[in-house]
Amino acid sequence: MQNIYYQTKIVATMGPASGNKETLKAMINAGLNVCRINFSHGTLQDHQKIIDTIRSLNKELKTNVGILADLQGPKIRIGLVKEGGIVLTNNNFINITTNECVGDESQIYISYLQIPWDVKPNEIILLDDGKIQLKVISTNKKDLVKCQVIHGGILTSRKGVNLPNTKVSIPSLTEEDLTNLDFALKNEIDWIGLSFVRNAIDVDFLKHIISNKGKNAKVVAKIEKPEAVENIDEIIAISDAVMVARGDLGVEIPMENVPLVQKSIINKCRAAAKPVIVATQMIESMITSPRPTRAEVNDVANSVLDGADAVMVSGETSVGEFPVEVIQTLTKIIGNVETHGYDYYRTPGNEISTQGDLNKALCTSAVGLAKATGARAIAVMTQTGLSALELSKHRPKSKIFVFTANRSLLNAFSLVWGVKAFFYDKLESTDQSIADVNRILKNAGLIEPGEVVINTATAPLIELGKTNLLKVSVLD
Ligand code: PGA
Ligand code: MN
Repeated sequence: MQNIYYQTKIVATMGPASGNKETLKAMINAGLNVCRINFSHGTLQDHQKIIDTIRSLNKELKTNVGILADLQGPKIRIGLVKEGGIVLTNNNFINITTNECVGDESQIYISYLQIPWDVKPNEIILLDDGKIQLKVISTNKKDLVKCQVIHGGILTSRKGVNLPNTKVSIPSLTEEDLTNLDFALKNEIDWIGLSFVRNAIDVDFLKHIISNKGKNAKVVAKIEKPEAVENIDEIIAISDAVMVARGDLGVEIPMENVPLVQKSIINKCRAAAKPVIVATQMIESMITSPRPTRAEVNDVANSVLDGADAVMVSGETSVGEFPVEVIQTLTKIIGNVETHGYDYYRTPGNEISTQGDLNKALCTSAVGLAKATGARAIAVMTQTGLSALELSKHRPKSKIFVFTANRSLLNAFSLVWGVKAFFYDKLESTDQSIADVNRILKNAGLIEPGEVVINTATAPLIELGKTNLLKVSVLD
């Protein structure tokens, strides 16, 4: 069992720097909750090895580290360019072609066949995270787009392309995504990330494929397109979780809009009881340095204060020099904020009334009771997990312990703010199971004698009905 346990969760991207069993073990011991497999890099063989390592560490350490497998979606990249890269000079012209070639100073290849139909003159094309900026001059509406270099630089192979002004007509899942999805589902991955989501249909399509294959994987919609920000309400409603993917988002929308968009998405997700991850460049400087910059520490702390369920690191742990120190650093920042300055018990602003929704009303009451009694924990029995999400959205100071016979929830809940899950499948009487649950928590050292626990349960348990009962227990 992990001995460090704060309520805001940590997601770390796996890669050559973190795949080694000893390193990953140290990262888990330092507070890592969810491992992210990024299909943009590495082979399926590499990913399989990491998945197997995580699974074996979960057994060894008795942890529930979850896995998030991140699909590239309609991410556009340039093809290969001459060795050493090409130099794009301001004001020069360059052609984008959809005919495969090795790029040089006069033309580069983009594997997005519809680009000549989708772009219009004067639209902006950004390359390599926005470092290079091109302007569309003309298109032959067939296979060629003529551009002018606005901000030049050195361009190397396979760099990402962003089209902030263009409605991109690529399907939400490419052939490669479907292969990767199949692999993820065969491996019973908990969370599937979908990049460059534009609307609810993109998410719905993925959810249908998952359920048609009889799988339980949940979907994280990555918000990194202007359309996704516009359609945020329908996307949150259909997704199981959301990621504020600031890397691409800050290129696709004006970067100065990102901080407020982050806060707004977090608030909307919390009101909807959907987990939300803040991602990218959180402690980027730790890729090469054992200490983050002060501004990065502030960014992590502010994301926690904003109410994120989880913070995520990318290069810091996939290719960085200090993967274990990265997790230690995040844990220190989260721990300090939660101990000294966190705004607990925030009822989401738009939760005007819980009337008519018994479960919501019961969870709101459980949180109120926890606050009034200074409860150490709220212990829930649940089959669907919905109660746990409902409790979590109030950000109670009490820890939320979930007891479930639904194995697919155990690791998935590692992403959810404040929640720790236990497997429990006994069908005792309600009284007995509450006593049982409290004993398990006490034996695990998670609650001390004399502390208060709020239990939610179903009576009679044997009918496996909806949660309908609250109990205040003082541990002896
Ligand atoms: P990526 O997504 O790392 O897959 O690009 C995160 C982001 O864009 O912030
Ligand atoms: Mn991205």
